[in-house]
Amino acid sequence: MFERDHYHCRYCGVPIVAKEPLRAFERAVGISVFRVLGTNAQQHGVIHAFKVVADHVVPHKLGGRTLPENLVTSCPGCNYGKENFTLEQLGLDNPWDRPPTTSGWDGLTPLVAGLNAHAEARGPAMA
Ligand SMILES: [Zn+2]
Repeated sequence: MFERDHYHCRYCGVPIVAKEPLRAFERAVGISVFRVLGTNAQQHGVIHAFKVVADHVVPHKLGGRTLPENLVTSCPGCNYGKENFTLEQLGLDNPWDRPPTTSGWDGLTPLVAGLNAHAEARGPAMA
C-alpha cells in the first residue's frame, strides 16, 4: 500500500519515510529511544514525526475494514488529526478521488542496505 501511494500522504501529499528505513536507522544508531515498534509511549517523538501510517478512510471504529481499498498512506499528523471522524465530518476530500502524489520520492527505501551494513559493522546496540 505504501508503495502504491508512492510514499506520500494521500490527504496532504507530504512525502513520508517508509518503515524499513526507520527500522534500519534504529539498528544503525543502536539507541533504543529511536525504536520504531512498540507503544506510542515507548517511541521517541522524532519517530512519530516521520513514520508512515496506514489510515482507514472509513474509520475502523465506524465499521471500516482493514483492506487495501479502505487503507491509504498517511502522515502521522493527518492520521492523528482525522482520528475516528468521517471525511464528511471533517470536510476532507476523498483521497480516492485523486491519484497519489508522485514526485520520485522513494520513502528512503534505498538506504536500508547501507544502514543495515553499518549496524552490523558497529556491533551490539547501545542501551
Ligand atoms: Zn498528511
